[in-house]
Amino acid sequence: MNVPLILPDFLDRAVTLYGEKVAVHCEGRTVTYQQLNGRVNQLSNGLRKLGVDKGDRIAYLAGNTLEMLEGFYGVFQLGAVMVPLNIRLKPEDYVFILNHSESKVLFVDQDLYSLIEPIIVQLETVENIIVHYKEQDTNATDYDSWLASHISTDFDRADIDENDMCSLLYTSGTTGNPKGVMLTHRNNYLHAMSTMHHLRVKESDIYLHVLPMFHVNGWGAPFYYTANGATHICSRKTTPESIFKALQDYRVTVLHMAPTVLNALLQYHDEHHPVVEQDVRVVIAGSAPPPAFITRVEEELGWEFIQVYGMTESSPLSLVSTIHSHLTDLPKVQQTVLKSKAGYPMIGSDVRVLGANGDEVEHDGVQVGEVAVRGHGVMKGYWKNEQATQETLRDGWLFTGDMGTVDEYGYINIVDRKKDVIISGGENISSIEVEGVLYEHPAVLEAAVIAVPHEKWGETPHAYIVLRENMEAAEEEIIAFSRERLAHFKAVTGITFVDELPKTASGKIQKVQIRDAYWEARGKSGRLV
Ligand code: ATP
Ligand code: MG
Repeated sequence: MNVPLILPDFLDRAVTLYGEKVAVHCEGRTVTYQQLNGRVNQLSNGLRKLGVDKGDRIAYLAGNTLEMLEGFYGVFQLGAVMVPLNIRLKPEDYVFILNHSESKVLFVDQDLYSLIEPIIVQLETVENIIVHYKEQDTNATDYDSWLASHISTDFDRADIDENDMCSLLYTSGTTGNPKGVMLTHRNNYLHAMSTMHHLRVKESDIYLHVLPMFHVNGWGAPFYYTANGATHICSRKTTPESIFKALQDYRVTVLHMAPTVLNALLQYHDEHHPVVEQDVRVVIAGSAPPPAFITRVEEELGWEFIQVYGMTESSPLSLVSTIHSHLTDLPKVQQTVLKSKAGYPMIGSDVRVLGANGDEVEHDGVQVGEVAVRGHGVMKGYWKNEQATQETLRDGWLFTGDMGTVDEYGYINIVDRKKDVIISGGENISSIEVEGVLYEHPAVLEAAVIAVPHEKWGETPHAYIVLRENMEAAEEEIIAFSRERLAHFKAVTGITFVDELPKTASGKIQKVQIRDAYWEARGKSGRLV
Protein backbone atom coordinates (compact mmCIF):
# COMPACT_ATOMS: atom_id res chain seq x y z
CA MET A 1 0.00 0.00 0.00
CA ASN A 2 1.19 3.49 -0.75
CA VAL A 3 2.37 5.60 2.17
CA PRO A 4 0.59 8.97 1.97
CA LEU A 5 3.08 11.79 1.51
CA ILE A 6 1.86 14.21 4.17
CA LEU A 7 3.71 17.06 5.81
CA PRO A 8 3.25 16.18 9.52
CA ASP A 9 5.64 13.27 8.82
CA PHE A 10 8.52 15.74 8.60
CA LEU A 11 8.03 16.93 12.17
CA ASP A 12 7.44 13.35 13.43
CA ARG A 13 10.76 12.37 11.93
CA ALA A 14 12.58 15.31 13.52
CA VAL A 15 11.07 14.51 16.93
CA THR A 16 12.08 10.87 16.76
CA LEU A 17 15.58 11.40 15.45
CA TYR A 18 16.54 14.83 16.80
CA GLY A 19 14.12 15.42 19.70
CA GLU A 20 16.68 17.11 21.98
CA LYS A 21 18.20 19.26 19.24
CA VAL A 22 17.41 22.97 18.98
CA ALA A 23 14.66 23.38 16.42
CA VAL A 24 14.22 27.14 16.64
CA HIS A 25 15.97 30.19 18.02
CA CYS A 26 13.56 33.10 17.87
CA GLU A 27 14.14 36.49 19.48
CA GLY A 28 15.70 35.12 22.65
CA ARG A 29 13.61 31.94 22.89
CA THR A 30 14.95 28.48 22.16
CA VAL A 31 12.88 25.34 21.63
CA THR A 32 13.93 21.78 20.88
CA TYR A 33 12.12 19.58 18.38
CA GLN A 34 10.41 17.82 21.28
CA GLN A 35 9.18 21.13 22.66
CA LEU A 36 8.15 22.36 19.23
CA ASN A 37 6.05 19.25 18.79
CA GLY A 38 4.37 19.89 22.15
CA ARG A 39 3.45 23.42 21.09
CA VAL A 40 2.18 22.14 17.75
CA ASN A 41 -0.10 19.65 19.56
CA GLN A 42 -1.40 22.42 21.80
CA LEU A 43 -2.17 24.51 18.74
CA SER A 44 -3.99 21.69 16.91
CA ASN A 45 -5.98 20.80 20.05
CA GLY A 46 -6.89 24.46 20.52
CA LEU A 47 -8.04 24.85 16.94
CA ARG A 48 -10.12 21.70 17.12
CA LYS A 49 -11.81 23.06 20.21
CA LEU A 50 -12.67 26.19 18.28
CA GLY A 51 -14.49 23.97 15.80
CA VAL A 52 -11.85 23.90 13.09
CA ASP A 53 -12.18 20.83 10.92
CA LYS A 54 -10.44 19.21 8.01
CA GLY A 55 -10.37 21.50 4.96
CA ASP A 56 -11.07 24.71 6.93
CA ARG A 57 -8.85 27.68 6.10
CA ILE A 58 -6.69 29.26 8.81
CA ALA A 59 -5.00 32.58 8.02
CA TYR A 60 -1.71 33.88 9.43
CA LEU A 61 -0.49 37.45 9.38
CA ALA A 62 2.99 37.21 10.85
CA GLY A 63 6.66 37.67 10.08
CA ASN A 64 9.30 35.01 10.66
CA THR A 65 8.51 33.76 14.14
CA LEU A 66 8.33 30.57 16.18
CA GLU A 67 4.54 31.06 16.20
CA MET A 68 4.41 31.13 12.41
CA LEU A 69 6.65 28.08 12.07
CA GLU A 70 4.61 25.97 14.49
CA GLY A 71 1.48 27.25 12.75
CA PHE A 72 2.25 25.21 9.64
CA TYR A 73 2.38 21.92 11.50
CA GLY A 74 -0.47 22.77 13.86
CA VAL A 75 -2.74 23.51 10.91
CA PHE A 76 -1.52 20.61 8.78
CA GLN A 77 -2.07 17.86 11.30
CA LEU A 78 -5.72 18.94 11.54
CA GLY A 79 -6.00 18.50 7.78
CA ALA A 80 -6.79 22.22 7.68
CA VAL A 81 -5.41 24.69 5.14
CA MET A 82 -2.81 27.35 5.84
CA VAL A 83 -3.45 30.79 4.29
CA PRO A 84 -0.35 32.90 4.91
CA LEU A 85 -0.86 36.62 4.38
CA ASN A 86 1.74 38.97 3.04
CA ILE A 87 2.50 41.57 5.73
CA ARG A 88 2.76 44.47 3.28
CA LEU A 89 -0.68 44.50 1.73
CA LYS A 90 -3.26 47.25 1.83
CA PRO A 91 -6.32 46.87 4.12
CA GLU A 92 -8.62 46.18 1.15
CA ASP A 93 -6.33 43.31 0.07
CA TYR A 94 -6.73 41.68 3.48
CA VAL A 95 -10.50 42.00 3.21
CA PHE A 96 -10.36 40.42 -0.25
CA ILE A 97 -8.07 37.50 0.67
CA LEU A 98 -9.71 36.66 4.01
CA ASN A 99 -13.19 36.69 2.50
CA HIS A 100 -12.16 35.01 -0.76
CA SER A 101 -10.40 32.19 1.11
CA GLU A 102 -13.29 32.02 3.61
CA SER A 103 -10.80 31.82 6.46
CA LYS A 104 -12.26 30.78 9.80
CA VAL A 105 -9.49 31.75 12.22
CA LEU A 106 -6.93 34.53 11.88
CA PHE A 107 -3.64 34.55 13.80
CA VAL A 108 -2.00 37.95 13.81
CA ASP A 109 1.17 39.40 15.29
CA GLN A 110 0.52 42.30 17.70
CA ASP A 111 2.86 44.46 15.60
CA LEU A 112 0.58 43.91 12.61
CA TYR A 113 -2.74 44.10 14.45
CA SER A 114 -3.30 47.70 13.36
CA LEU A 115 -3.50 46.46 9.76
CA ILE A 116 -6.45 44.24 10.66
CA GLU A 117 -8.29 46.27 13.29
CA PRO A 118 -9.99 48.70 10.89
CA ILE A 119 -11.27 45.94 8.60
CA ILE A 120 -12.54 43.44 11.16
CA VAL A 121 -16.14 44.53 10.56
CA GLN A 122 -15.80 43.64 6.89
CA LEU A 123 -14.65 40.06 7.51
CA GLU A 124 -17.42 37.65 6.59
CA THR A 125 -16.09 34.29 7.77
CA VAL A 126 -13.42 34.90 10.42
CA GLU A 127 -14.81 33.68 13.77
CA ASN A 128 -11.72 34.03 15.96
CA ILE A 129 -8.74 36.37 15.97
CA ILE A 130 -5.79 35.26 18.08
CA VAL A 131 -2.87 37.58 18.70
CA HIS A 132 0.79 36.63 18.97
CA TYR A 133 2.95 38.77 21.33
CA LYS A 134 -0.22 40.38 22.63
CA GLU A 135 0.05 43.56 24.62
CA GLN A 136 -2.16 44.14 27.64
CA ASP A 137 -4.36 46.89 26.26
CA THR A 138 -6.23 45.04 23.49
CA ASN A 139 -9.16 42.75 24.13
CA ALA A 140 -8.35 40.16 21.44
CA THR A 141 -7.44 36.57 22.45
CA ASP A 142 -3.88 36.20 23.72
CA TYR A 143 -2.03 33.41 21.93
CA ASP A 144 0.30 32.38 24.78
CA SER A 145 -2.41 31.85 27.38
CA TRP A 146 -4.74 30.26 24.83
CA LEU A 147 -1.98 27.84 23.77
CA ALA A 148 -1.10 27.02 27.37
CA SER A 149 -4.68 25.96 28.08
CA HIS A 150 -4.46 22.96 25.72
CA ILE A 151 -2.62 19.68 26.12
CA SER A 152 0.73 19.16 24.47
CA THR A 153 1.18 15.45 24.83
CA ASP A 154 -1.23 14.07 22.32
CA PHE A 155 -3.26 14.96 19.28
CA ASP A 156 -5.58 12.67 17.40
CA ARG A 157 -4.38 13.45 13.89
CA ALA A 158 -6.95 13.88 11.12
CA ASP A 159 -7.11 11.35 8.33
CA ILE A 160 -5.22 13.18 5.60
CA ASP A 161 -4.87 12.21 1.96
CA GLU A 162 -1.73 13.33 0.16
CA ASN A 163 -3.86 15.04 -2.48
CA ASP A 164 -5.71 17.13 0.09
CA MET A 165 -5.05 20.84 -0.11
CA CYS A 166 -2.71 22.00 2.67
CA SER A 167 -2.18 25.60 1.68
CA LEU A 168 -3.82 28.41 -0.16
CA LEU A 169 -1.08 30.81 -1.09
CA TYR A 170 -1.80 34.08 -2.78
CA THR A 171 0.74 35.01 -5.49
CA SER A 172 3.04 37.99 -5.02
CA GLY A 173 0.90 40.30 -7.13
CA THR A 174 3.94 41.42 -9.12
CA THR A 175 1.89 41.56 -12.31
CA GLY A 176 -1.62 42.25 -11.02
CA ASN A 177 -4.08 41.02 -8.41
CA PRO A 178 -2.87 38.10 -6.29
CA LYS A 179 -4.39 34.72 -7.13
CA GLY A 180 -5.05 31.92 -4.62
CA VAL A 181 -2.84 28.94 -5.46
CA MET A 182 -4.05 25.56 -4.15
CA LEU A 183 -1.15 23.32 -3.13
CA THR A 184 -1.47 19.81 -1.73
CA HIS A 185 0.50 17.83 0.87
CA ARG A 186 1.99 15.80 -1.97
CA ASN A 187 3.06 18.96 -3.84
CA ASN A 188 4.94 20.31 -0.85
CA TYR A 189 6.28 16.96 0.33
CA LEU A 190 7.90 16.04 -2.98
CA HIS A 191 9.06 19.60 -3.54
CA ALA A 192 10.80 19.45 -0.15
CA MET A 193 12.43 16.09 -1.00
CA SER A 194 13.76 17.43 -4.28
CA THR A 195 14.93 20.73 -2.78
CA MET A 196 16.73 19.14 0.16
CA HIS A 197 18.67 17.01 -2.31
CA HIS A 198 19.67 19.90 -4.57
CA LEU A 199 20.58 22.26 -1.72
CA ARG A 200 22.39 19.42 0.10
CA VAL A 201 20.44 20.12 3.31
CA LYS A 202 21.81 18.30 6.35
CA GLU A 203 21.28 17.92 10.08
CA SER A 204 24.13 20.28 10.91
CA ASP A 205 22.60 23.14 8.90
CA ILE A 206 21.69 26.35 10.69
CA TYR A 207 19.20 28.20 8.55
CA LEU A 208 18.56 31.91 8.92
CA HIS A 209 15.08 32.89 7.73
CA VAL A 210 15.45 36.05 5.69
CA LEU A 211 12.81 35.38 3.07
CA PRO A 212 9.41 35.66 4.68
CA MET A 213 7.77 32.33 5.55
CA PHE A 214 4.45 33.66 4.31
CA HIS A 215 5.88 33.77 0.81
CA VAL A 216 6.21 30.53 -1.10
CA ASN A 217 9.97 30.93 -1.60
CA GLY A 218 10.55 31.23 2.11
CA TRP A 219 7.98 28.80 3.17
CA GLY A 220 9.47 25.57 1.76
CA ALA A 221 12.15 26.01 4.42
CA PRO A 222 9.90 24.99 7.36
CA PHE A 223 9.58 21.62 5.64
CA TYR A 224 12.99 20.62 4.34
CA TYR A 225 15.09 21.98 7.19
CA THR A 226 12.72 20.44 9.76
CA ALA A 227 12.70 17.03 8.05
CA ASN A 228 16.50 16.97 8.41
CA GLY A 229 16.63 18.16 12.01
CA ALA A 230 18.41 21.40 11.08
CA THR A 231 18.02 24.54 13.24
CA HIS A 232 15.81 27.50 12.26
CA ILE A 233 16.83 31.04 13.24
CA CYS A 234 14.06 33.57 12.94
CA SER A 235 13.19 37.07 13.94
CA ARG A 236 10.56 39.54 12.80
CA LYS A 237 12.93 42.18 11.51
CA THR A 238 16.13 41.77 9.56
CA THR A 239 18.57 44.43 8.44
CA PRO A 240 22.01 43.93 6.85
CA GLU A 241 23.49 44.62 10.28
CA SER A 242 21.28 42.09 12.07
CA ILE A 243 21.97 39.48 9.38
CA PHE A 244 25.75 39.78 9.79
CA LYS A 245 25.32 39.61 13.57
CA ALA A 246 23.17 36.47 13.34
CA LEU A 247 25.73 34.81 11.07
CA GLN A 248 28.27 35.05 13.85
CA ASP A 249 25.99 34.49 16.86
CA TYR A 250 24.44 31.31 15.51
CA ARG A 251 27.07 30.17 13.02
CA VAL A 252 24.51 30.16 10.22
CA THR A 253 25.29 27.82 7.30
CA VAL A 254 22.54 28.58 4.75
CA LEU A 255 20.70 31.69 3.60
CA HIS A 256 18.01 32.22 0.99
CA MET A 257 17.14 35.72 -0.11
CA ALA A 258 15.93 38.01 -2.87
CA PRO A 259 18.79 39.55 -4.89
CA THR A 260 17.65 43.00 -3.76
CA VAL A 261 18.39 41.96 -0.16
CA LEU A 262 21.68 40.35 -1.18
CA ASN A 263 22.54 43.60 -2.92
CA ALA A 264 21.89 45.51 0.32
CA LEU A 265 24.18 43.05 2.16
CA LEU A 266 26.96 43.61 -0.37
CA GLN A 267 26.60 47.36 -0.01
CA TYR A 268 26.70 47.14 3.78
CA HIS A 269 29.76 44.90 3.52
CA ASP A 270 31.48 47.45 1.23
CA GLU A 271 30.78 50.32 3.58
CA HIS A 272 31.21 48.78 7.02
CA HIS A 273 33.55 45.83 6.44
CA PRO A 274 31.98 43.83 9.28
CA VAL A 275 34.46 41.35 10.70
CA VAL A 276 32.35 38.26 11.06
CA GLU A 277 33.42 34.77 12.00
CA GLN A 278 31.05 32.77 9.91
CA ASP A 279 30.29 29.33 8.49
CA VAL A 280 27.94 30.21 5.63
CA ARG A 281 28.32 27.54 2.97
CA VAL A 282 25.80 28.76 0.48
CA VAL A 283 23.40 31.56 -0.38
CA ILE A 284 20.39 30.85 -2.54
CA ALA A 285 18.59 33.49 -4.60
CA GLY A 286 16.22 33.83 -7.55
CA SER A 287 15.48 36.50 -10.14
CA ALA A 288 18.33 36.30 -12.64
CA PRO A 289 21.24 38.28 -11.20
CA PRO A 290 24.00 39.08 -13.74
CA PRO A 291 27.36 37.16 -13.60
CA ALA A 292 29.24 40.18 -12.20
CA PHE A 293 26.91 40.18 -9.19
CA ILE A 294 27.50 36.47 -8.56
CA THR A 295 31.27 36.97 -8.70
CA ARG A 296 30.99 39.71 -6.08
CA VAL A 297 28.96 37.47 -3.76
CA GLU A 298 31.41 34.61 -4.14
CA GLU A 299 34.57 36.69 -3.86
CA GLU A 300 33.63 39.45 -1.42
CA LEU A 301 31.38 37.45 0.89
CA GLY A 302 33.02 34.06 0.24
CA TRP A 303 29.68 32.25 -0.15
CA GLU A 304 28.78 29.75 -2.85
CA PHE A 305 25.92 31.16 -4.92
CA ILE A 306 23.03 29.00 -6.12
CA GLN A 307 20.26 30.41 -8.23
CA VAL A 308 16.83 28.85 -8.20
CA TYR A 309 13.76 29.47 -10.29
CA GLY A 310 10.23 28.96 -9.19
CA MET A 311 6.76 30.34 -8.83
CA THR A 312 3.95 29.97 -6.31
CA GLU A 313 2.06 27.77 -8.77
CA SER A 314 4.83 25.12 -8.68
CA SER A 315 5.42 24.87 -4.91
CA PRO A 316 7.72 26.83 -5.96
CA LEU A 317 11.06 25.55 -7.29
CA SER A 318 11.66 23.71 -10.54
CA LEU A 319 15.12 24.88 -11.74
CA VAL A 320 18.44 25.09 -9.92
CA SER A 321 21.73 26.45 -11.23
CA THR A 322 24.19 24.18 -9.41
CA ILE A 323 27.04 23.08 -11.67
CA HIS A 324 26.75 19.37 -12.39
CA SER A 325 29.94 17.34 -12.19
CA HIS A 326 30.39 16.92 -15.95
CA LEU A 327 30.63 20.74 -16.18
CA THR A 328 33.09 21.44 -13.37
CA ASP A 329 36.00 21.42 -15.85
CA LEU A 330 34.56 24.44 -17.64
CA PRO A 331 36.48 27.71 -17.05
CA LYS A 332 35.28 29.57 -13.96
CA VAL A 333 33.89 32.43 -16.08
CA GLN A 334 31.69 30.01 -17.98
CA GLN A 335 30.50 28.36 -14.76
CA THR A 336 29.48 31.77 -13.43
CA VAL A 337 27.52 32.42 -16.61
CA LEU A 338 25.70 29.11 -16.02
CA LYS A 339 24.95 30.13 -12.43
CA SER A 340 23.46 33.38 -13.67
CA LYS A 341 20.83 31.32 -15.48
CA ALA A 342 17.78 29.96 -13.74
CA GLY A 343 19.25 26.49 -14.12
CA TYR A 344 18.60 22.86 -14.90
CA PRO A 345 15.36 21.04 -14.05
CA MET A 346 15.25 19.68 -10.51
CA ILE A 347 14.47 16.05 -9.75
CA GLY A 348 10.76 15.47 -10.37
CA SER A 349 10.27 18.54 -12.54
CA ASP A 350 10.04 18.52 -16.30
CA VAL A 351 10.70 22.03 -17.59
CA ARG A 352 10.59 22.90 -21.26
CA VAL A 353 10.77 26.05 -23.31
CA LEU A 354 8.04 25.97 -25.94
CA GLY A 355 8.01 28.06 -29.11
CA ALA A 356 4.92 29.66 -30.65
CA ASN A 357 4.11 26.40 -32.49
CA GLY A 358 4.09 24.49 -29.20
CA ASP A 359 7.33 22.61 -29.94
CA GLU A 360 10.43 22.79 -27.80
CA VAL A 361 12.90 25.45 -28.97
CA GLU A 362 16.42 24.48 -30.07
CA HIS A 363 18.97 24.12 -27.27
CA ASP A 364 21.05 26.94 -28.71
CA GLY A 365 20.72 29.62 -26.03
CA VAL A 366 19.11 31.90 -28.62
CA GLN A 367 15.59 30.85 -29.52
CA VAL A 368 13.04 32.22 -27.08
CA GLY A 369 9.84 30.50 -25.96
CA GLU A 370 7.51 30.27 -22.98
CA VAL A 371 8.70 28.23 -20.01
CA ALA A 372 6.32 25.38 -19.18
CA VAL A 373 6.56 23.10 -16.14
CA ARG A 374 5.05 19.78 -15.22
CA GLY A 375 5.80 17.58 -12.26
CA HIS A 376 5.00 16.98 -8.64
CA GLY A 377 5.05 20.65 -7.60
CA VAL A 378 2.39 21.87 -9.98
CA MET A 379 -0.68 23.26 -8.20
CA LYS A 380 -4.19 21.86 -8.24
CA GLY A 381 -5.41 25.16 -9.65
CA TYR A 382 -6.43 28.66 -8.61
CA TRP A 383 -8.99 28.82 -5.82
CA LYS A 384 -12.41 29.83 -7.12
CA ASN A 385 -10.94 30.98 -10.43
CA GLU A 386 -11.64 28.36 -13.07
CA GLN A 387 -10.86 30.70 -15.94
CA ALA A 388 -7.36 31.56 -14.72
CA THR A 389 -6.78 27.85 -13.98
CA GLN A 390 -7.70 26.87 -17.52
CA GLU A 391 -5.51 29.57 -19.01
CA THR A 392 -2.50 28.52 -16.91
CA LEU A 393 -2.80 24.70 -16.75
CA ARG A 394 -3.06 23.41 -20.31
CA ASP A 395 -2.48 19.88 -21.66
CA GLY A 396 -0.86 18.83 -18.39
CA TRP A 397 1.58 21.77 -18.38
CA LEU A 398 1.81 24.84 -16.19
CA PHE A 399 2.42 27.82 -18.49
CA THR A 400 4.54 30.16 -16.44
CA GLY A 401 4.21 33.43 -18.37
CA ASP A 402 8.03 33.60 -18.32
CA MET A 403 10.05 33.65 -21.53
CA GLY A 404 13.31 31.73 -21.71
CA THR A 405 16.05 30.09 -23.77
CA VAL A 406 17.83 26.73 -23.31
CA ASP A 407 21.57 26.32 -23.82
CA GLU A 408 23.54 23.29 -25.05
CA TYR A 409 23.85 21.99 -21.46
CA GLY A 410 20.08 22.14 -20.88
CA TYR A 411 20.31 25.18 -18.58
CA ILE A 412 17.32 27.48 -18.95
CA ASN A 413 17.74 31.23 -18.89
CA ILE A 414 14.75 33.40 -18.03
CA VAL A 415 14.75 36.19 -20.55
CA ASP A 416 11.80 38.11 -19.20
CA ARG A 417 8.21 37.91 -18.12
CA LYS A 418 5.95 37.87 -21.16
CA LYS A 419 4.33 41.06 -19.84
CA ASP A 420 7.67 42.86 -19.39
CA VAL A 421 9.19 42.22 -22.82
CA ILE A 422 9.70 45.49 -24.72
CA ILE A 423 8.82 45.38 -28.40
CA SER A 424 10.75 48.02 -30.29
CA GLY A 425 10.58 48.21 -34.07
CA GLY A 426 9.38 44.59 -34.15
CA GLU A 427 12.38 43.39 -32.06
CA ASN A 428 11.88 41.83 -28.62
CA ILE A 429 14.02 43.37 -25.90
CA SER A 430 14.50 41.65 -22.56
CA SER A 431 14.11 44.18 -19.76
CA ILE A 432 16.27 41.86 -17.60
CA GLU A 433 19.17 42.05 -20.08
CA VAL A 434 19.06 45.84 -20.11
CA GLU A 435 18.87 45.98 -16.30
CA GLY A 436 21.90 43.65 -16.12
CA VAL A 437 23.96 46.24 -18.02
CA LEU A 438 22.72 49.14 -15.90
CA TYR A 439 23.74 47.25 -12.74
CA GLU A 440 27.33 47.26 -14.05
CA HIS A 441 27.40 51.06 -13.75
CA PRO A 442 29.21 51.91 -10.49
CA ALA A 443 26.64 54.52 -9.41
CA VAL A 444 23.58 52.31 -9.94
CA LEU A 445 22.12 50.63 -6.87
CA GLU A 446 18.84 49.44 -8.39
CA ALA A 447 17.36 49.53 -11.86
CA ALA A 448 14.05 48.59 -13.44
CA VAL A 449 13.41 48.90 -17.15
CA ILE A 450 9.93 49.28 -18.62
CA ALA A 451 8.50 49.85 -22.08
CA VAL A 452 7.34 53.37 -22.84
CA PRO A 453 5.78 54.61 -26.09
CA HIS A 454 7.99 55.74 -28.95
CA GLU A 455 6.68 57.51 -32.06
CA LYS A 456 8.84 55.63 -34.50
CA TRP A 457 9.57 52.29 -32.82
CA GLY A 458 6.30 51.67 -30.98
CA GLU A 459 8.04 51.06 -27.66
CA THR A 460 11.44 51.90 -26.21
CA PRO A 461 13.24 50.96 -22.95
CA HIS A 462 13.04 53.48 -20.14
CA ALA A 463 14.89 52.95 -16.84
CA TYR A 464 13.90 53.80 -13.29
CA ILE A 465 17.12 54.08 -11.31
CA VAL A 466 18.11 54.39 -7.66
CA LEU A 467 21.64 55.75 -7.30
CA ARG A 468 24.04 54.60 -4.61
CA GLU A 469 24.34 56.89 -1.64
CA ASN A 470 26.70 59.81 -2.26
CA MET A 471 27.11 58.93 -5.92
CA GLU A 472 25.97 60.88 -8.93
CA ALA A 473 25.43 60.13 -12.59
CA ALA A 474 23.71 62.15 -15.29
CA GLU A 475 20.96 60.73 -17.47
CA GLU A 476 23.04 61.16 -20.66
CA GLU A 477 25.99 59.38 -19.11
CA ILE A 478 23.96 56.30 -18.19
CA ILE A 479 22.27 56.27 -21.60
CA ALA A 480 25.72 56.41 -23.26
CA PHE A 481 26.93 53.64 -20.92
CA SER A 482 24.06 51.38 -22.02
CA ARG A 483 24.62 52.21 -25.72
CA GLU A 484 28.27 51.16 -25.42
CA ARG A 485 27.32 47.77 -24.05
CA LEU A 486 24.11 46.88 -25.86
CA ALA A 487 22.83 46.79 -29.43
CA HIS A 488 21.57 50.35 -29.96
CA PHE A 489 17.92 49.37 -30.25
CA LYS A 490 18.16 47.79 -26.77
CA ALA A 491 19.78 50.78 -25.06
CA VAL A 492 17.70 52.90 -22.70
CA THR A 493 16.45 56.17 -24.17
CA GLY A 494 15.29 57.83 -20.98
CA ILE A 495 15.81 57.63 -17.23
CA THR A 496 13.75 58.57 -14.20
CA PHE A 497 15.80 58.84 -11.01
CA VAL A 498 13.91 57.81 -7.87
CA ASP A 499 14.73 57.34 -4.19
CA GLU A 500 13.35 53.83 -4.11
CA LEU A 501 11.57 51.29 -6.28
CA PRO A 502 8.24 49.70 -5.30
CA LYS A 503 8.78 46.13 -4.12
CA THR A 504 6.72 43.17 -3.02
CA ALA A 505 7.16 41.86 0.52
CA SER A 506 9.72 39.35 -0.72
CA GLY A 507 11.78 42.13 -2.29
CA LYS A 508 10.73 41.85 -5.94
CA ILE A 509 10.51 45.02 -7.95
CA GLN A 510 6.91 45.68 -9.00
CA LYS A 511 7.00 46.93 -12.54
CA VAL A 512 3.21 47.27 -12.66
CA GLN A 513 3.48 50.07 -10.12
CA ILE A 514 6.39 51.65 -11.97
CA ARG A 515 4.33 51.69 -15.16
CA ASP A 516 1.45 53.25 -13.24
CA ALA A 517 3.82 55.89 -11.81
CA TYR A 518 5.11 56.61 -15.31
CA TRP A 519 1.60 57.26 -16.56
CA GLU A 520 0.56 59.21 -13.48
CA ALA A 521 3.54 61.53 -13.89
CA ARG A 522 2.20 62.28 -17.36
CA GLY A 523 -1.29 62.92 -16.08
CA LYS A 524 -2.76 59.85 -17.74
CA SER A 525 -4.21 56.64 -16.48
CA GLY A 526 -3.97 53.24 -18.07
CA ARG A 527 -1.11 50.99 -18.89
CA LEU A 528 1.05 50.49 -21.89
CA VAL A 529 0.94 46.71 -21.65
P1 ATP B 1 2.01 37.44 -9.68
O1 ATP B 1 1.91 36.07 -10.27
O2 ATP B 1 0.94 37.71 -8.68
O3 ATP B 1 2.16 38.52 -10.68
P2 ATP B 1 4.74 36.73 -9.06
O4 ATP B 1 4.71 36.03 -10.38
O5 ATP B 1 5.91 37.64 -8.80
O6 ATP B 1 3.38 37.52 -8.83
P3 ATP B 1 5.68 34.54 -7.52
O7 ATP B 1 5.01 33.25 -7.74
O8 ATP B 1 6.18 34.89 -6.19
O9 ATP B 1 4.68 35.68 -7.91
O10 ATP B 1 6.95 34.68 -8.47
C1 ATP B 1 7.24 33.84 -9.56
C2 ATP B 1 7.94 34.60 -10.68
O11 ATP B 1 9.21 35.13 -10.24
C3 ATP B 1 8.28 33.75 -11.86
O12 ATP B 1 7.16 33.53 -12.70
C4 ATP B 1 9.38 34.58 -12.52
O13 ATP B 1 8.84 35.62 -13.31
C5 ATP B 1 10.12 35.20 -11.33
N1 ATP B 1 11.33 34.41 -11.02
C6 ATP B 1 11.48 33.48 -10.07
N2 ATP B 1 12.71 32.96 -10.09
C7 ATP B 1 13.39 33.58 -11.08
C8 ATP B 1 14.71 33.47 -11.62
N3 ATP B 1 15.62 32.64 -11.10
N4 ATP B 1 15.02 34.25 -12.67
C9 ATP B 1 14.12 35.10 -13.20
N5 ATP B 1 12.85 35.25 -12.75
C10 ATP B 1 12.50 34.50 -11.71
MG1 MG C 1 3.23 34.87 -11.27
